[in-house]
Order: sequence, then structure tokens, then C-alpha cells
Amino acid sequence: MKAPEHPEGTYPEGTYPEGTYPEGTRRRPGRVHLVGAGPGDPGLLTARALELIARADTILYDRLIPAQALDGARADAELLFVGKQGGGHSVPQEQTQALMIERARAGREVVRLKGGDPFVFGRGGEEALALREAGIPFEVVPGVTAGVAAAAYAGIPVTHRGLSTAVALVTGHTQAGASDGEEREGEDDGERRTGARDGERWASEDAEAHESQRDWQALAAFPGTLVFYMGVRQLERIASSLIDAGRPASEPAALVERGTLPDQRTIGATLATIAEAARRERVKAPAIAIVGAVAGLTSELSWLATGPLAGRTVAVTRARAQTSELARRLGELGATVVQAPSIRTQAISDPTLPPLNPARYDLICLTSPNGVGFLFERLDDGTHPPGDARSLANTRIAAIGPGTARALAEHGIVADVVGERFVAESLVDALVDVDVRRALVARASEARDVLPDALRARGAEVDVLALYETVAEPLSSSALEQARAADYITFTSSSTVRFFLQAARAGGERNAGSTGSDTPLSSTTRIVSIGPVTSATLREHGLEPHVQAQRHDVDGLVDALLADAAEHDG
Ligand code: SAH
Repeated sequence: MKAPEHPEGTYPEGTYPEGTYPEGTRRRPGRVHLVGAGPGDPGLLTARALELIARADTILYDRLIPAQALDGARADAELLFVGKQGGGHSVPQEQTQALMIERARAGREVVRLKGGDPFVFGRGGEEALALREAGIPFEVVPGVTAGVAAAAYAGIPVTHRGLSTAVALVTGHTQAGASDGEEREGEDDGERRTGARDGERWASEDAEAHESQRDWQALAAFPGTLVFYMGVRQLERIASSLIDAGRPASEPAALVERGTLPDQRTIGATLATIAEAARRERVKAPAIAIVGAVAGLTSELSWLATGPLAGRTVAVTRARAQTSELARRLGELGATVVQAPSIRTQAISDPTLPPLNPARYDLICLTSPNGVGFLFERLDDGTHPPGDARSLANTRIAAIGPGTARALAEHGIVADVVGERFVAESLVDALVDVDVRRALVARASEARDVLPDALRARGAEVDVLALYETVAEPLSSSALEQARAADYITFTSSSTVRFFLQAARAGGERNAGSTGSDTPLSSTTRIVSIGPVTSATLREHGLEPHVQAQRHDVDGLVDALLADAAEHDG
């Protein structure tokens, strides 16, 4: 790229456009990656998208990205929501672009994450132009676009031998300047917004002028499948315009709402009946409309099974880095998962402490899967000869429960002792026949002392090593709002309870009038606790859990939730 002509010294440190930074400086602008996140199913994120998400310093994301898309982000990555907030306002496009450019100039690797494909009604092209103009290098990572994917998940091949040899992706919006993708129309309430106040709006000359620009004759004559994005509110107009322009009223048509998501709905009709069907079924955005003979194949080829949790929303409050397993299980069962991570774990590093020497102990106890990760980080923290699994060779290793044992196994360590349940008492029982002289309990900074006390009572010398601490993760107001209204909310530790309620109460005060600070959850939300300790914390905060897992791990929690859902029909 040709370096823009700027006299040296016009830019503050770290903000030189590519190619213009002075020699000798190591600062240079980062890249911006315009990344498609696919239509909703996290399995449809590309390998490249996942790789870039894992590496990014800054991620700017919209609302229509898969709930789990950010799970793999670095714990210290800056995550900026630039889509529509709960109140309905989105960050203006110019501001998003400015933010992106500013972060890149500061040398950060920026991922701009968009639903579907960034260049299909996603304003990705505009953003790329702004980047080019600013001299910021960028990369475009295509994504699986909703028009094709939602159709496929509904059993509709957009082309099919003998039925359709071409496919057109069309915006359903005719409002001036509205074909701009997710920030304005793709949000859940985007189409409602343009719909509700639109009675008058559509009557305005502006809209009519724009409307008449659309060549309905050409679209009607298109020899193949028509796929409409952002069209729910405009279906009536789309269908009647197509019919008036000569498209057969009896042609098959289908609507796919929340395509590829666990609660996907497909509504089959004809061009003549599609708008009425959408009204009757109360179809909401995001949805695509497919017009063409292929739409008729949905009745034969529909393949997506609905799980026992279909139609239920479940909020997950545990740390983002840990949600994936729980969210994946719930998603597979058909639930719509609301990610509301209220906590985050971070390593405690105290440079004044002597290096960790595992050989001093004849037993090391790990009390959580998190602890395992931080232990290995600590072993290899550079303050002593590099440590890995070999430095644990001569020490017995105990895991508090099966999840912790699995985390150890991922590091090549088979635990010698495993508690049956994920509570300290269970590990104490499991250790009853183990001879212990010097033990290390490696754990979170705030934890109960059941295990060290029990070992000391048996005459062992016990060191407690605080490897990590749990801190509050700020919750976006939209995540908070969705979590509060969910059918279920899951708490997997006392700290998720404390920090979620803290965030909910703070949010509740800000949105005074909606949900008061005394009612952090909707009265219909059922509270699921992973075990007795978490339940006790809930009660301390005035909340009675409706469900408590019998096994205190992810599997146990999911089983308990399933059983409850079966008892309480939607
Ligand atoms: N860049 C995106 C499209 C953004 S425009 C892409 O390539 O998919 C937003 C519109 O996309 C929505 O109004 C809706 O028509 C469609 N859309 C996005 N996600 C969808 C989904 N999961 N199911 C059905 N339609 C979806």
C-alpha cells in the first residue's frame, strides 16, 4: 500500500499509519480483521474466525453473533459491544469505525466481529473503505451467511437441479439508506423499530421515492430463488409487489426465524399466504424469507431435531472462559443460552513468594478445573527452571471431583485420588486411607478451609497456595436484561451469585422504573444451583433456588435442569 503523505511527527506515539512510522520505533499499527461469525450456531464459526478471536487485543462485536463466539477470547482482551443496546440505540456506524481505527493505530490487533458474512448486508464494505482511507491494514474473513445457512438448516437448498439455477440475496428494506445490515435492521427489535413507527414513515415521499427505485419487475422475473434479509416487517409489501409484477402467487415461500439456533422455526407457505402466516405465527427478526420452488422442499428435507429444552432460555453466569461446556450442552438440548458471565478468574502472582517446588510435598490437592490451569502457569512462570508435568512426577495428586481430574488429564496427569462429588468433604473422604505428611492445597484465594483443616487434623503439615482470585466481570445491560428475563438462570458457585446480583442491582438502579433493585430476577425465572454451598449463598441474598443439582458439576446441573423442565411445561 502506498504510504499516505503525512509529515513525520504529526501523529501521537503509536498512531502512525502503516508505512509512515519512523525507523527504529517498534510501534506500528495493528491490523483490523473484519470477521464473519456465522448465523448463530457456534459450530458455523470458521477456523480462521476462532483463531483470530483467540488472539485479538480488541473485539468489537454486534448483537447478532453466536452467543459462544467470544468464549475463546483472551481473558484480558477488550470486548466492546457496538450493536444495539437494550434501550434500542446502537453505537453509530461512524463511532464504531473511529473506535476501530483508533485501537488499530494504538498497535492493537482488532477483530470486528459481525453476524453471518461481513460483506453481505453487514456494512463490512463501508468499514473496509474507512480502514483503507485511514491507512490501516485489514483482512476480511468471510462467514457463513444467514440466507444460505438458515435455508439449509430448514432443509431448503437455495439451488437445486431442475428447480432453481440461480439465487439472489435481496434486502427486504426499502427505506432510504437502510440496507446496512445488523446494526440497524438485524437486531431483534430492529425490524420492529422500523415497523412500529413506520405507518407514517412509509407514507413519506422519501420512502416512496426509494421504494419505486426497486425494480420489482426484474426481481419477479429473476430465474431462481429469492432470499430476503431484513424483511419480516415488509413481507406484505414484498409479496404483493412480486405478485403484481408477475411472480406466481402459488409459488412456494418459507420463513426461517432464528435460523441455525436451537429455537429455529420454519414456516412454509406460498407467496400469496406468507405475510398472513408470518403475522399469525408472530415471526420476529432475525428471519429470512425464501421465495422459489426450492422453498417447497422444506417439508421433505427438514432435518433439525428439536431438543427437550427447545423454546427455553437459560442464562449462564459463570466465567466466560468456562461457559462453553455448559452452554454447549444446553444448546444441544435445544435451549437458547444467554451468556451473562458475571465473574472472571485471574492469576495471583506474588513476586515475593519463593518459587513453587512440588517436590517438597507428598500430596498436592487441586480444588477446581481452574486451579489446574493456574497451577501449570505457576509451574512455568519463569522464576525457576521451566516446570511442566514432570515436576509433579513424585507427588501424589488429588482432584476434588471428576471435572478437576479431567483438567489434570489434559495436562497429562492422572489423578491418584478423585473425590466423587465436587465438594471438599468428598475429597476428605476419598483421602481417608492416604498417608499424608506434607500437603499443598492449591486453590482460589477465597475458599473454605474444610480440606486444609481436615488434613491438619490428621497431623499433616499443610501449605495453602492461593493461585487465583475471582473478580467481577462487568455485564452489558443487554446481557443483564436477557438473563433476568430467562426461563432459567444457573449459578455454578457462590461468587457467580454474589457478582451477578451485584451487577443486577447496579443495573436495576440505573434502569430505574423497569426492574427495581429488590427484584433482580423476573418472578417466572427458575433458579438453578449447582449445590448446597451455592444455594446457601442464594438464600443469604434472599433468593430461594428452585432446583439444586444432586451431582455438583456441569452434568449434574444439566440433569437437574432437564428434570425440572420436564415437570414444568414451558
Ligand atoms: N451479515 C449478515 C446479515 C446481516 S443483515 C449475514 O451475512 O448473514 C441482518 C439480517 O440477516 C436479519 O434481519 C435477518 O434477515 C438475517 N439473519 C441474520 N441472522 C439470522 C438467523 N440466524 N436466522 C435468520 N435470519 C438471519
